Amino acid sequence: MNVFVTGGAGYIGSVCVSELCDAGHSVTVLDNLSEGHRSAVDPRARFVQLDLGDREGVARAVREAQAEAVIHFAAYALVGESMTDPSKYFRNNVGNAINLADASVAAGVRKFVFSSTCATYGPPDRVPMDEGLPQRPINPYGESKLMFEKVLRWYQELHGLEFVAFRYFNAAGASANFGEHHRVETHLIPLVLQVALGQRSHIDVFGNDYPTPDGTCIRDYIHIADLAQAHIQALAPGKSGYFNLGNGEGFSVREVIATCERITGRSIAFQDKPRRAGDPARLVASAQKAISELGWKPQYPRIEQIISTAWNWHQKHPHGYAD
Ligand code: UDP
Repeated sequence: MNVFVTGGAGYIGSVCVSELCDAGHSVTVLDNLSEGHRSAVDPRARFVQLDLGDREGVARAVREAQAEAVIHFAAYALVGESMTDPSKYFRNNVGNAINLADASVAAGVRKFVFSSTCATYGPPDRVPMDEGLPQRPINPYGESKLMFEKVLRWYQELHGLEFVAFRYFNAAGASANFGEHHRVETHLIPLVLQVALGQRSHIDVFGNDYPTPDGTCIRDYIHIADLAQAHIQALAPGKSGYFNLGNGEGFSVREVIATCERITGRSIAFQDKPRRAGDPARLVASAQKAISELGWKPQYPRIEQIISTAWNWHQKHPHGYAD
C-alpha cells in the first residue's frame, strides 16, 4: 500500500516508517524537520521536507505520493508548552492538520490514521480509562487533539474518509535503530537516563502532593514499537474509530526513577519541585478495544522492557541523532 506519513522523522513516526517498510509498504515521509531528524528516516522511504502549513504543497505531495493511506504523526506534543503558547498548538495541531485532511480527501485517500492522546480525556472519573469516558482536556495540547478528532469524525461522515484515532498514553522505549531525541528534552524517561549517563546532575520531580500513593503523577508507558504496530493494523479496510493505546498499568514518577536505577545500575538524584501546569494525577489505559477489535498485541508491555530498550539506545547514541 502507498502510505503517506507525516512526522516520519520524529520519535514515533521513525519507528512506524521502518516497520511499514519491513511490512512491504511503499512509504513517503513528510516532515518539516522542526523536531524530527533527517537521519531518523528509514532510507527505504521517500522524503519530502515540507511544513503542513503549506496547503498547496501538502495537497501536491499527497497527490504525487498516490497515497492510499495517511498516517499523521506531525504535531506539537508538550503539555507544559501548550499552557504557555496555546496558539502554536491550535494553529498546527488543528489548522495545519486540516490542510492534510483536505489533501487526503482530494487525493482519494482511503484511510487516515491519527495520533491522538489520552490528554483528550483530562482527569478521568475512573481508571483504567476506556474510550467511553467523557473528554474534558485540561490543557491546550489535549484540546487541540480533541478538536482534530472531531474534524475527522465529520470528514468520515461527510467525505467518506475512514479514520482511526489512537489515543496514546506515554510513548517510551526505542527500537534497535531509532530512539527518542528531542532538541529540547522534557520527557521523563530520557531525562532520567541523561542523569544516568552523567549528562545531567539530577531530575526534577514535578509535584509530590498528588493524590497517589507516593504523591507523584502516575502514567501508563507504552513502547513505541507497539504503538507502530497498532498503526499498521489500523490500515486494514473497515477498521475505524477511537482506540486507547497503553498497557493498563501505571507507574509513578518515583517508580520510573527507581526502575531506571535498577536497569542502569547507577544512582539517580532527584529534587522535588512544584507541580507542572496541566498535569493530571493519574492516567492509565484500558486498551481492550484495540486488543479485541484490531487484534493488537503489545510485544513490550513491561516497564523494565521499555526502559531497557531506551537505555540501550541512549548508551549507543548519547547525543541522539547528533552522533
Ligand atoms: N515529569 C517530571 N519531571 C520531568 C519531566 C516529567 O516529574 O523532568 C513528570 C510529569 O510531570 C508527568 C510525568 O513525569 O507527571 C510524565 O511526563 P512526560 O513529560 O514524560 O509526559 P506527559 O505525561 O506530559 O505526556
